[in-house]
Amino acid sequence: MHEQISNEQLLEVANKFSTPLYVYHAEKINQQYQKLTSAFADINTTFFYASKALTNINILKYIKDIGCNVDCSSINEVKLAILAGFPVDRILYTSNGIDFSEIEEAVEARVHINIDSLSNLEKFGKKFGHSYPVGIRIRPNIMAGGNLKIATGHDGSKFGIPVDQLSKIEQLIKTTNLYIKTLHIHTGSDIKDPDVFVKGIEVLFELIPHFPELEIIDLGGGFKVPYKAGDEETDIIMLAKKIKETFENHPVANGKNFKLWFEPGKFLVSACGNLLARVTVVKDNGNTVFAAVNSGLNHLIRPMMYDAYHHIENISNPAGVKKVYTITGNICETDTFGSDRDINEIREGDILSFHNAGAYGFEMASNYNSRFKPAEVLIKDGKTQLIRKRDEMEDLLRNQVI
Ligand SMILES: *Cc1c(COP(=O)(O)O)cnc(C)c1O
Repeated sequence: MHEQISNEQLLEVANKFSTPLYVYHAEKINQQYQKLTSAFADINTTFFYASKALTNINILKYIKDIGCNVDCSSINEVKLAILAGFPVDRILYTSNGIDFSEIEEAVEARVHINIDSLSNLEKFGKKFGHSYPVGIRIRPNIMAGGNLKIATGHDGSKFGIPVDQLSKIEQLIKTTNLYIKTLHIHTGSDIKDPDVFVKGIEVLFELIPHFPELEIIDLGGGFKVPYKAGDEETDIIMLAKKIKETFENHPVANGKNFKLWFEPGKFLVSACGNLLARVTVVKDNGNTVFAAVNSGLNHLIRPMMYDAYHHIENISNPAGVKKVYTITGNICETDTFGSDRDINEIREGDILSFHNAGAYGFEMASNYNSRFKPAEVLIKDGKTQLIRKRDEMEDLLRNQVI
């Protein structure tokens, strides 16, 4: 497996392409993918990369080339996946809250579909009856995930059809002759404990006898990744072992040979990415020394949106004496990347590296404050390639009528 990208390399890339800059390391994605496939090697498992984490088409192509499938959360992501060259039987569309016309488009494209409401399920059954196998997203009423904003399976969540509405699903199957091939759950993100997935399976097992044509159990994504020293990743080997036991020990599942699907996003691409930004201002405001960079919540919103932790390093001054800094952006809004961090002495002009910026980093970037979105660079096979140009003035005016 390939080496980590060194800070010296990152600094070279920052000098070559300027900042702010997203840098991704392709082989790191493959390394994460191999962890999954090797742990689940003797279980009939398929992984669908949740592409909403990072949709640059070069990343999608790489994911396709290493053999991973793709999960989409909008019809446009389905179209991007097709453009990236994924065969349609390797594309899954797990929708929520969408207009039925998008589901019709997905059927036209012949991709796998998971439906998340009784309303769309009814429309689906009426239009396609038994002609198009489909999955349903079940809300298992399990609370899990890093925080409430990324918990999706609890009993107050908008996602899925609540498990207690089973009789209504059954009624629709009867009246419209639906062909249900998949039961899907996605309980949330940053789930470290394998038992949460086991609990999810147990909820689904209760439902199995009601779906005679069931082939696939889809457990969604949400595996945790480490953000700081001492953090642990979801133990994938333990997870595979527990899931295998759960299937083998359960009378409804044992011998049925269900296919198991997962939709990892963060697990595959979080650690592959770093955001590099240049220090614009260092100022001592009394109680706090602030270092501001030429970036902000417009480029990496996770700290402000989810209180997410991103490790921050000063890659320009690795030998500098450690001091305490609060790192902010340049946006007219509080945009703290990290408070009271021990960082090698920061000087104006230094390059800071923000770790775990591959997932939900660029993807959530905006032009807020009329700033340009960063460029993106991919390092693959030791070669560095620009995969998105930095915005220019025309990009800010694109689509404005002047
Ligand atoms: C976002 C999402 C995922 C991926 O979640 P991660 O925490 O990035 O692994 C998987 N499935 C569905 C349906 C999602 O919405």
